[in-house]
Amino acid sequence: MESGEAVVAMVPSPGMGHLIPMIQFAERLCRHHNLRITFLIPTNAPPSHAQTTILNSLPPLISHVFLPTVTLTDIPPNAKMEIIISVSVLRSLPYLRHALLSLSATHRVTALLLDFFGTDAFDLARELNISPYVLFPSTAMVLSLALNVPRLDQDAHFWDFSKPVHLPGCLPVHRKDLGLAFEDRDDAYKWVLHHGKRYMLAEGFVENSFRDLEPDTIDLLRKDEPGRPPVYLVGPLVKEDDAGSEVNMVEQCLCLKWLDAQPHGSVILVCFGSGGTLSKDQMEELALGLEMSEQRFVWVVKSPNEEVANGSYFTEDTGVHLFYFLPQGFVERTKGRGLVVPSWIPQAQVLSHPSIGGFVTHCGWNSVLESVVNGVPLVAWPLYAEQNMNAVLVSEGMKVAVRVVIGENGLAERGEIARVVKMVMEGEEGKKLLHRMKQLKEAAATALRDGGSSSTQISELALKWKAQTKVYY
Ligand code: UDP
Repeated sequence: MESGEAVVAMVPSPGMGHLIPMIQFAERLCRHHNLRITFLIPTNAPPSHAQTTILNSLPPLISHVFLPTVTLTDIPPNAKMEIIISVSVLRSLPYLRHALLSLSATHRVTALLLDFFGTDAFDLARELNISPYVLFPSTAMVLSLALNVPRLDQDAHFWDFSKPVHLPGCLPVHRKDLGLAFEDRDDAYKWVLHHGKRYMLAEGFVENSFRDLEPDTIDLLRKDEPGRPPVYLVGPLVKEDDAGSEVNMVEQCLCLKWLDAQPHGSVILVCFGSGGTLSKDQMEELALGLEMSEQRFVWVVKSPNEEVANGSYFTEDTGVHLFYFLPQGFVERTKGRGLVVPSWIPQAQVLSHPSIGGFVTHCGWNSVLESVVNGVPLVAWPLYAEQNMNAVLVSEGMKVAVRVVIGENGLAERGEIARVVKMVMEGEEGKKLLHRMKQLKEAAATALRDGGSSSTQISELALKWKAQTKVYY
């Protein structure tokens, strides 16, 4: 039977990081092409306020369903994200099947857009005769790594840890920059390899980047290669407004109001994404480094975490008692010059504020793209996952960032923090970074304009997904 309006089902992974770019893509498909989208969301914990707020603020053509929560009690709580996400998706498959069947009773489900750790849903898509696609919310460099993992896994040179890794068309990176899964070669790596072997079963990759950011990598990825699904470049997909960020309204309003009163380009934003947490010692060094830099700042502070750097990725940080962890007198001493905001800010909106002149970032790709569209130069301070690769790209490839040096004790020390902050905000080097960032901002606007490279690719996919007819039973 084949009936009804076309709908694209999107399956993000749990947490905010991969949901946000999928939502941006959905909004474009819906606003510009009137395409209906349904999010079917695997969960391993009750949905966060940030998730529900953003999803509830979407246009009527975009609906969502949280799939029943899967239990992960057999998995250590500090397991790597690759494991947590992959297992969550795997265990959600029966729920996903049920949700897709219900949806196909009234609609033509023409495509299933999966998270890049969601390849186990390919078989379900095939069974239900729905075209599977994968959204890569990170760099083309990460896409290149993902596609090359099965080949590299068999290559003895790849496992020689003393040698840099050369991915086709990419800057050489150190092994440690690939993320812990590659260093430890453990279960998390097995999942990465598992997904790597399955990517070829997709009908296409949706990549959140555009040519000017990674020209050599993208040119190679776009070359026809037998058996490799096409890559659609749709970036930069970033939040157009911050309707979904009312997590902490009072603090947010204060933050924007405070920025209104600061000179143009004078404030550096410090924020480590939705999940990034620092140790207590690192928080202290950061506070004292910001103080030492004598620059204006907004710092989004999360509770310290001594064990993992992604301490609040799947759970909400309440920001309770945060100020106990800051050095004594820090808030008073930096009053008027610095603002400490607990837990969450509307980051995209803050980055677009004219008072912002720099951004200390963990190099999550969404954060990098939000800086690009707003022309804000960076201090690159990667914490986990592919952020080290992104840090190489923004500093050595795009040349829009200075990278913070981490000492042998594992800490970025106060003097180093003051150095990089000052460099971006007032040095000659900072001017060069700003100039380059402004060029990329222009290029981003061009890609997204009607007829621009990304808009054209999005239209191509929208037309395909609207027109596709499939037989379901
Ligand atoms: N974000 C935000 N406010 C915060 C922290 C993060 O709005 O206080 C948003 C940020 O704008 C970005 C996303 O959360 O869109 C974080 O994604 P990214 O890829 O940068 O990092 P991740 O959270 O996946 O590590």
